Amino acid sequence: RTELSLALLATAYLTDQIPTVDAPQVALAGRSNVGKSTLVNCLAGRKGLAKISATPGKTRSLNFYMAQAAGYCLVDLPGYGYARCSMAEREKWAKLIDSYLKKTSRLRAVTALVDCRLPPQRLDVELVDWLRARRMPVLVVLTKADKCKQRDREARKKEWRELARPAFPPILFSGKTGLGREALCRVLAEAALS
Ligand code: GDP
Repeated sequence: RTELSLALLATAYLTDQIPTVDAPQVALAGRSNVGKSTLVNCLAGRKGLAKISATPGKTRSLNFYMAQAAGYCLVDLPGYGYARCSMAEREKWAKLIDSYLKKTSRLRAVTALVDCRLPPQRLDVELVDWLRARRMPVLVVLTKADKCKQRDREARKKEWRELARPAFPPILFSGKTGLGREALCRVLAEAALS
């Protein structure tokens, strides 16, 4: 078991708080409640690194985690598409993410986290299309796989392979059981350092 030693480098709530990071970066994107914080904690082997929200839509910042030994930076983007938040709030998020994407030249790939239990959702498909249009390599991670039947898991993998034509094959992941953890660590490093 190889823990990624992740150290929180910076947290940005506002555009001018976005740090300049020299290391190559891989971003994590996904709808609120998809399991992004759980995934970060699972990768780090630490429970309290990223806050797990019982209330969806709470994580509003960009969080920069340095994977020290691996030599790249994991950038946790604020969750999108939470239905109960206001338009103004959503625009603020979009602006923050946009500023980050404009500022960084060392972003090597974006990991799209999608819920394994659901067929591809419009917002997730839009994100992947948007990234592909910008020639940004996409890595699809199917979260909460422990809650998903084997048949559905395979169906999801196939759907996302066809939809996203991702740079890497979709990874089934569970923060609860650790499924896919090793594979994800490998692929993140490969994506960041290639
Ligand atoms: P975030 O909003 O994307 O950061 O999502 P969180 O990591 O806060 O998780 C949202 C909810 O889903 C929490 O109640 C988690 O316990 C649960 N969850 C996250 N990942 C998994 C998983 O792999 N398996 C199961 N069964 N539950 C999960």
